[in-house]
Amino acid sequence: MEHGGEPLAAVFQRLIARYGPITLQHYMGESNARYYAGKDPLGSAGDFITAPEVSQMFGELIGLWLADIWMRAGRPEDVRYVELGPGRGTLARDALRAMKRSGLAPAVHFVEGSAALRRIQLAAVPQAEWHHDLSDLPTDGPMLLVGNEFLDALPVRQLVKTPEGWRERMVDFQEGRFVPVAGDKPMDAAVPETINEQADGALIETCPGAAAVVGEVARRLVSQGGAALLIDYGYDRPQTGSTLQALKAHTKVDPFALPGEADLTCLVDFSAAGEAASAQGARLLGTVAQGHFLRALGIEMRADKLAAAAPEHASAIHAAMHRLIGKKQMGTLFKVMGLAAPDWPHGAGF
Ligand code: SAH
Repeated sequence: MEHGGEPLAAVFQRLIARYGPITLQHYMGESNARYYAGKDPLGSAGDFITAPEVSQMFGELIGLWLADIWMRAGRPEDVRYVELGPGRGTLARDALRAMKRSGLAPAVHFVEGSAALRRIQLAAVPQAEWHHDLSDLPTDGPMLLVGNEFLDALPVRQLVKTPEGWRERMVDFQEGRFVPVAGDKPMDAAVPETINEQADGALIETCPGAAAVVGEVARRLVSQGGAALLIDYGYDRPQTGSTLQALKAHTKVDPFALPGEADLTCLVDFSAAGEAASAQGARLLGTVAQGHFLRALGIEMRADKLAAAAPEHASAIHAAMHRLIGKKQMGTLFKVMGLAAPDWPHGAGF
């Protein structure tokens, strides 16, 4: 939502002064909508860098995965490539190039909320069609869907255990700063019995938006056919604690310091995402570490081949590969979740 040229911090301050603290979910949702609306946050000159911006190998291997499952599904002709939050369009461009070599040239649909990023995507993939959300994607024909670092930007809700019981985590404005506080409404009924017994200060984070998106992707896979890869940093077993973080100019900053001016993300709860997909009847192919997935798809061979073709870039190519698969880099914290229609084949790498 846009509020003219007024800084988001001023809007939040006014809301809080009039009606009291706002929910963290409200704070994160509005902050990210404002953050992405007007700028390109990616790359070395921006605030953060993503796997497709590290190396073309990432998008190419995703494209090969999609082409492989499509071939084994019998090469349906009316298939579409759908990407959630395509950033600069780099992943799509690299994946489409790799798919084309396998005889796959699908129509392209992008789900993108940011006008600034849509302009950049148009230059990278001119044939794409854009959508604000998943609701108006075509309803016929199988989808090959990809989302990289999309779910982590969706707003979370946090519940915190206080001596008075569970409360929603809210954002207040005190002494010139935004600060997290516990709300005053009881929230005990929102917490599953199984995790009710927690010490004071315990915190549960959920992402209703991520569950809704994954559920909708799964529902469409079941009714339309196809497969999906959702890639993000996250965890695959339930855990407690806040994972909210803010990045500005490649540095972690206080998430409450500059609403709308830093990228706010949370780790993705892949066990919850998997449950949301299974509840719709989609096939969960698995959730694996990004390093495992890219190795299984042959990133090491691909890097050697690229390096042999361009020896002057060999060390940069291998450094990029290590960044994508290294244990202390993106290889372990980042996970790849694969989904497919029940009658589609199993996917490589899971
Ligand atoms: N996938 C890209 C970009 C990741 S950044 C890459 O890997 O480089 C997150 C992307 O999701 C951006 O394109 C951002 O504009 C988009 N986005 C974030 N929240 C969104 C929302 N609620 N609706 C639509 N797009 C959103």
